Amino acid sequence: MTSLPAPQLLIDGRLRAATGDTSFPVINPATEEIIGYAPEAAGADADEAIAAARQAFDESDWPRRPGFRAHCLRQLKAALDRDFETLREITIAEAGVPRMWTDGPQLRMPVDGVDYVTGLLDHYEWETDLGTAAPMGMPTSRTAAREAAGVVAAITPWNFPTQINLAKVVPALAAGCTVVLKPAPDTPWAGAELGRLIAAETDIPSGVVNVLTSAGAAIGQQLTADPRVDMISFTGSTATGRLVMTAAAATLKKVFLELGGKSAAIVLDDYEVTAAASLTAFTTCIHAGQGCALTTRLVVPRAGYDEAVAACAKTMASVQVGDPLDQATVCGPVISAGQRERIESYLRSAIDDGGRFACGGGRVPGRETGFWVEPSVIAGLDNSARAAREEIFGPVLVVLAHDGDDSAIEIANDSPYGLSGAVFGTDPQRARAVARRLRTGSVSINGGVWYGPDVPFGGYKQSGIGREMGVAGFEEYLEIKSMAVPAGREPA
Ligand code: NAD
Repeated sequence: MTSLPAPQLLIDGRLRAATGDTSFPVINPATEEIIGYAPEAAGADADEAIAAARQAFDESDWPRRPGFRAHCLRQLKAALDRDFETLREITIAEAGVPRMWTDGPQLRMPVDGVDYVTGLLDHYEWETDLGTAAPMGMPTSRTAAREAAGVVAAITPWNFPTQINLAKVVPALAAGCTVVLKPAPDTPWAGAELGRLIAAETDIPSGVVNVLTSAGAAIGQQLTADPRVDMISFTGSTATGRLVMTAAAATLKKVFLELGGKSAAIVLDDYEVTAAASLTAFTTCIHAGQGCALTTRLVVPRAGYDEAVAACAKTMASVQVGDPLDQATVCGPVISAGQRERIESYLRSAIDDGGRFACGGGRVPGRETGFWVEPSVIAGLDNSARAAREEIFGPVLVVLAHDGDDSAIEIANDSPYGLSGAVFGTDPQRARAVARRLRTGSVSINGGVWYGPDVPFGGYKQSGIGREMGVAGFEEYLEIKSMAVPAGREPA
């Protein structure tokens, strides 16, 4: 690795080590090498960061200067562009993301998406005239004003580190909030690098953004419990999301949750099953299946089941697995030994439940160091099996059989999750009708890509509360204040 700027905390405008100068190792999941050390924030550091964010929100004019915020976000975008290769190197090294995905949704697309959010500030309607009414006989003119929600604690996972850090920090800043960002223990560097850019290359005032890295859960817990934090913006597992919501309830914080998924891709009986199966098998391998919205259940017509399983196995066998630095690699390592163990327990459960592997099912031969799982296709299960119901978060696809459109929809919706989905069908009206009946926050039809800075993304059911990206993602960070004055006495 070339020499990268060492991770530091950002607290009240100052880049610094943790109290007590403690740190923890950052591991490259492809090699198991320690690539650096990140500061282990103490409770006192978190306390100081929250105080700085609170003060910046309450005592500075940051929340009331949208033009200045747009200027700062343009500076940030320019800094991200200049720093792009460093961010790419960090993303590949600490998250094991294959290089090809850094040209898309892992890095290039979210960096470009900063412009979209900044652009909203040029024309956003902060106050809406609700017209005049006469409640209880008093003619009154009313307005609805939108204002920043306050101090936001942004807690993020490891699988799309910079993408999710930006998807929270940028709209929160655009809205006029102040932020304490707590990146995931496995990927502290991306968050620290964002903090460094903000401190070194933008006019964002001290205290407006703070970054706390930590190897454990205690700092996240502190943020969710502290009464000075107004809102939690969380992305992570459904299990942790539940803990976050419970902790936030004590001080009734606004809670915005982006959680897990177990999305289904439905192939209708008028579609070429092998084409849909191959595409779904390929997408399951992207970043070793560590994407919340990947469709990891393939639901195909019973008559085409064997053909679909064979097509999945053929595609997965041809996917390039290996060094994330190689431009041709599709499937890199999984993030950690713990995550590999979790995936392997699901693979064992699939066999215990009567399933079989059409390909994969183990570790990648010849790769003794690093955390590697073979792309795997599981056949022979129904939707009640653990491997079919729970989020595996690895390159593992379960193929299920359906008996017509209603049956396919029932299987897809028979899940505690509702994040995403896909439908393949030659009749566009029929495919859309099926898509509309899926209880999920996004659906791809015939391979369409819904991801984009202007497209709201989020989950139904236990996949989350709220939407990231798009205007909806910006408005998550706003409160609404209704105001009324007697008619004729409106301010000029
Ligand atoms: P995780 O839930 O283990 O951790 C997420 C973050 O929460 C980390 O920063 C962690 O340190 C912190 N945390 C842990 N315990 C906490 C607590 N009690 N209070 C406050 N914070 C706490 O998730 P992960 O393993 O890092 O990420 C993978 C999960 O994220 C998967 O379930 C995936 O589906 C989900 N995810 C969802 C989306 C989405 O947009 N819906 C996007 C990416 C990832």
